[in-house]
Amino acid sequence: MPLLEVQNLSVRFALKQGFFARPGRSVKAVQEVDLTVDAGEAVGLVGESGCGKTTLGRAVLRLVEPTEGTVRFDGEDITALPPKALRARRRMFQMVFQDPFSSLDPRSTVGESIGEALDIHRLVADRASRTARIGELLRSVGLAPEHSDRYPHEFSGGQRQRIGIARALAVEPRLIVCDEPVSALDVSVQAQVINLLQDLQRDRGLAYLFISHDLAVVEHLCQRVLVMYLGRVVEVGDAREVCRAPRHPYTKALLSAVPVMDPAAKRARIVLGGDVPSPIDPPPGCPFHPRCPVAVARCRTDLPVLRRVGPGRDVACHLAG
Ligand code: SF4
Repeated sequence: MPLLEVQNLSVRFALKQGFFARPGRSVKAVQEVDLTVDAGEAVGLVGESGCGKTTLGRAVLRLVEPTEGTVRFDGEDITALPPKALRARRRMFQMVFQDPFSSLDPRSTVGESIGEALDIHRLVADRASRTARIGELLRSVGLAPEHSDRYPHEFSGGQRQRIGIARALAVEPRLIVCDEPVSALDVSVQAQVINLLQDLQRDRGLAYLFISHDLAVVEHLCQRVLVMYLGRVVEVGDAREVCRAPRHPYTKALLSAVPVMDPAAKRARIVLGGDVPSPIDPPPGCPFHPRCPVAVARCRTDLPVLRRVGPGRDVACHLAG
């Protein structure tokens, strides 16, 4: 049984204000997504900004409410759980954000922020064990127990992200949704944080749903990957396989923009024409057809569904397979 199982998940936001607002109009942010994450597995979720990956990550944790579909965590359907029961389950799944400032109170010391997470779930019996646990958590992310008396602004971006991870780890989650956790960091610091996430995955059996626009990072960290375009999953497979031999034209375009060191492995750059269409009014047929370099007549009318094209590989394209 997967640790996380998402079935037919859709998220729509009603348009109540602005130029496009009209009764019944909505943004289709996520459409009919199926997804699984096994215990201890890292699954990447990639796509350009606005493809729905962050909304999907938040819907999995019910930080935004799904419009349709179910989310099962360890076999339990959490989609319909009342708020109190959901709060109790939240210990099991945490989120790490791109900007750790958003989860750290600038007026609280690092120790207070981490301690708050311990207190909410009553995970420590007394003050001494609370202090010891905070020190242990800071050590586990490569910081020192003495850092607990400092404030977030006293740390570098990479260190702040480590504090965000320590805070998430405080409640001993089984799954962490990481939303672009390294995209605001310098490349060398990115590598350190990714290595830390890998170590934590190995040592604690953690599972990740890792949201990123960067396929190179996903290939390094994740075992499987889902590629999203305009709210839909267009390709799923083993992360290395997808990056080595992409099957969907959109994945091919994304990968062609990733720099590679080996000249023999260099791919021709595929430059996509046009902008990502609006999720308020997605194109008919294949949502990618206005930008697809190999589209055929059928693509303008028929929506391709995900179908199996190889072991563990699903692609939503009329020409795949
Ligand atoms: Fe391109 Fe057509 Fe495949 Fe869509 S279905 S990705 S438009 S070839």
